[in-house]
Amino acid sequence: MNTADVTDAYAKFMIGNYARNPIAMVRGEGSRLWDADGKRYLDLLPGLGVDGLGHCPPRVVAAIKKQADSLLHIHNNYMWEQQCLLGKALVEKLPEMIDAKAFFCNSGTEASEAAIKIARLRGKQKGGKWKLISVENGFHGRTYGALSATGQPGLQKNCEPLLPGFTYVPLNDIAALENALDAETAGFMIEPVQGEGGIFIARAEYLKAARELCNRHGALLKYDEVQCGMGRTGDYFAYQTLKAPAPDVIWLAKALGGGFPIGAMLAKAEVAQYMVPGTHGTTFGGNPLACAAGLAVIETIEQDQLIANVRETAAHLQTLLADLRGRHGGKINEIRQLGLMVGIDLKFSGKPVFARCLEVGLMINVTHDTTLRLLPAMNVTKVELSEGMEIISRVLAEF
Ligand SMILES: *Cc1c(COP(=O)(O)O)cnc(C)c1O
Repeated sequence: MNTADVTDAYAKFMIGNYARNPIAMVRGEGSRLWDADGKRYLDLLPGLGVDGLGHCPPRVVAAIKKQADSLLHIHNNYMWEQQCLLGKALVEKLPEMIDAKAFFCNSGTEASEAAIKIARLRGKQKGGKWKLISVENGFHGRTYGALSATGQPGLQKNCEPLLPGFTYVPLNDIAALENALDAETAGFMIEPVQGEGGIFIARAEYLKAARELCNRHGALLKYDEVQCGMGRTGDYFAYQTLKAPAPDVIWLAKALGGGFPIGAMLAKAEVAQYMVPGTHGTTFGGNPLACAAGLAVIETIEQDQLIANVRETAAHLQTLLADLRGRHGGKINEIRQLGLMVGIDLKFSGKPVFARCLEVGLMINVTHDTTLRLLPAMNVTKVELSEGMEIISRVLAEF
């Protein structure tokens, strides 16, 4: 099918819940992507963070093919080694979390649900703690629990009533968090780096204070690292880059499967013990295919030394961003960066900038109208980053 045929079929048969660009993609390799008309793109937002190793990472593709030949799926009343090996691999990346244990699901929002539920399962046994606090402008997913925790009224609108017991506090405001916590608080959940919200970074002192406040009230400190985790900040987890305290619960998805759907929630043993048979589960979660993909992702990060590559390319990107600021200071409000997570906050709507970039073959996106967001693959090259930033600079010059 060519692009026109695909566009036509979408209009007829697909629900219009996405703001789709009329471009049909057919092939990807690393940070490059090709559409149905043969046009090539530089993708500095591969899979919105899902393709953390770029498109079609070879080890992940090979692992999926190999696993598909022996066992695709078996339900969670049995065992398979790929699942516990992936659990082990993730736990080993969390040395600061005592005796962490893993639960697998299929997406970020499901991992958020598990993190919400485990806090209530534990809270019930701890004298009726059931309330959850999260951060304004945060994002935790689209299902009802996760949506209730998502402090963005625009996303919740017309979906009410939401789950009871959720309140929101402004990011990095210690006093507000202190006021919000009480004896009924089951947990405080936060993205160490807000992704969908436009790359806003939690301060280490704030997370340290949150750790102490949660301890004081017997509430859980919980990090949603669905977007910022799995290496893109220059450590496996963003809280490690920030030198922030370890949480009691942490969850992942997006880049974990290298393009294959999988989510994970990890909880300290003290918390994990409350998730007993009958309290939670999923049919597909952590099946052999998904876990084989996850294992291949970690193997790729290790063998290709991608954590080191993130640190190096992120430093290069920082220089390029300073340069962009120097050239277009009058048009840029603020640039926020942690590793390979970047928000370029413009003084005007970023939508036409995004559209023009796409036209000339650069894929990024725009959140909250004014923020251009980049989430380059962990194996992006300095040359690719330079090329992308040059395009952004040229496009900005037109405005
Ligand atoms: C994307 C995202 C989610 C939701 O993940 P889905 O796989 O789309 O359900 C949750 N939390 C954060 C921080 C995210 O970036």
